[in-house]
Amino acid sequence: MRKDFPQICRAFHEYGVQQTLLTNGLLLGKRYAEIENFIDEYIISLDGPTAAVHDSIRGVQCFEQILNGIRKVVPRSRENRVLARYVIQRRNYRHVEQMIDLAKSTGFQQVSFLAVDVESDAFGKNRNGSTAGDDSVLLTASEVGEFRSIMNSLISSRRADFESRFIAQSPGQLLHIVEYFEARAGITSFPVNHCNAPSMSAVITSTGDVKPCFFLPAFGNIRDTPLEKLLNLDSIRQTRRNVRSNKVDRCKTCVCTLRVDPLKAMLNRF
Ligand code: SF4
Repeated sequence: MRKDFPQICRAFHEYGVQQTLLTNGLLLGKRYAEIENFIDEYIISLDGPTAAVHDSIRGVQCFEQILNGIRKVVPRSRENRVLARYVIQRRNYRHVEQMIDLAKSTGFQQVSFLAVDVESDAFGKNRNGSTAGDDSVLLTASEVGEFRSIMNSLISSRRADFESRFIAQSPGQLLHIVEYFEARAGITSFPVNHCNAPSMSAVITSTGDVKPCFFLPAFGNIRDTPLEKLLNLDSIRQTRRNVRSNKVDRCKTCVCTLRVDPLKAMLNRF
């Protein structure tokens, strides 16, 4: 984490910007005191319900360290939202129920799930050479069948957690994750994706590039062109239309299933 991160958070805080920290949790315990007054929402990534599962995915022993960081954040969860994020892959798909239980017992307000991304270079994945091969994270055809049974039984046993929105996704969105793995295993085609991220947000990278979402290419840079002008370029407006009508190839195989209600976004965020 860059040393001046707290100053950056402070600057946005002074402009009244709501801030969400999406983190792998490693430095949370150590640096929480520097940012606690500026962050409104924490999304903390966990990879499994036990040290054995979690650390086998991360490749380092850090499960307890991350839990210790979370225990500092959770007591302030009346003021801040504290959410758990699990990326489902081959080494943890059998543990979804336990992951929900861990999120509950640790004090998270919500838990969400995402399928593992094997396609894009988002989040700098290709730069450090540490990305796992597809075979080690994707499910085989027989594992996908088992995963579907696990999710079907979870959907009937966890009704209260869906109703209370403790599980962020709807049952249909969780089944979309199953369908994604089925498609990756060559069993079916990819499910239709209704993501509307580029209509609701834009991504500005640390170098100033502006992207429709984390996965689609940049369409300009705020160091060359004002943001407002960039967001209204004909090319990005066309991209938004193409995403809406499901014409963008990258969207067809994307792990993101974000669909934000425009009115809620306006009321909650701006
Ligand atoms: S589906 Fe994926 S690639 Fe397409 S707009 Fe959404 S986040 Fe971007």
